[in-house]
Amino acid sequence: MNCIFCNIVSKKVPAKLVYEDSKILAFHDVNPVVSVHILIIPKKHIESAMHLKKEDEQLIGYIFLKIKDIAKNFGCDNGYRIVNNCGKDGGQTVNHLHFHLLGGNSLSWPPG
Ligand code: AMP
Repeated sequence: MNCIFCNIVSKKVPAKLVYEDSKILAFHDVNPVVSVHILIIPKKHIESAMHLKKEDEQLIGYIFLKIKDIAKNFGCDNGYRIVNNCGKDGGQTVNHLHFHLLGGNSLSWPPG
């Protein structure tokens, strides 16, 4: 399996890391769409949110709590958006579960 995010986890591909521990990795999106655009991924390869299993339940809660800390560290005190594109129709382009942390400025809704 040739997964770009697994290659970032294994350090075969460089990324601008923001946070790392035994379970997850966070790094700057290579193509930011807002001033704070960070991707948070589990180290374990999970293809998408559609592929989550019961055993992943705690991991997802863990990721959301870490996103909260990362957002605080990046000064997103007035709020931010967490995005998960899931599957082809959801616009997912990298098939390794990831959450976009978007912030740093006021975001419109619905997204333009
Ligand atoms: P999605 O469309 O939700 O699957 O988002 C995939 C995201 O991964 C896009 O925003 C890309 O810009 C980003 N991306 C792809 N390759 C890399 C990479 N090597 N390093 C950092 N971000 C990447």
